[in-house]
Amino acid sequence: MELARKLKYTGTMVNYYFVCKRKLWLFSHNISFEQDSDVVTLGKLLSEFSYRREDKEIDIDQTIVIDWIDFRNKVIHEVKKSDAIEEAHIWQVKYYLYYLEKKGVSGFKGEINYPKLHKIQQVALSDEDRKTLDNVLEEIKNIVSLENPPTKFKKPICKSCSYFQFCWV
Ligand code: SF4
Repeated sequence: MELARKLKYTGTMVNYYFVCKRKLWLFSHNISFEQDSDVVTLGKLLSEFSYRREDKEIDIDQTIVIDWIDFRNKVIHEVKKSDAIEEAHIWQVKYYLYYLEKKGVSGFKGEINYPKLHKIQQVALSDEDRKTLDNVLEEIKNIVSLENPPTKFKKPICKSCSYFQFCWV
């Protein structure tokens, strides 16, 4: 309960909410495991070399970290290596736009860049999305407040999840 009271809703938490509620709980309770080092290295390399001329990893309030911002065209960018959990990526970027609006910064759009797939996904924030995110944040607070992690359910993403050993081995 104490944790929920001083909760910062990070972009990663919003992402995990859409991927797996159990993952969200484990992450929010600072339970972590080393991910496969090759996966981590690939992610860093893609981000570093695909967009090397831009300012990267813009940390706002230690709550959201935007991969890079195109200020001229008012676009925030998120770089991902795979689109396997695209819905979660989209909501993460919608949350960045929502968070910026709450800070008085409006008029931005989002873009998810998949350099390895040569794919770009545009992201915008609607009124409906704002209402959904209000509810998502409330639900995140409720999940994080639980005494124990939510029950595990096997899904395709489990095999590439850093908690796989913890949940299933
Ligand atoms: S391994 Fe599967 S059930 Fe466990 S936290 Fe990851 S996604 Fe959730």
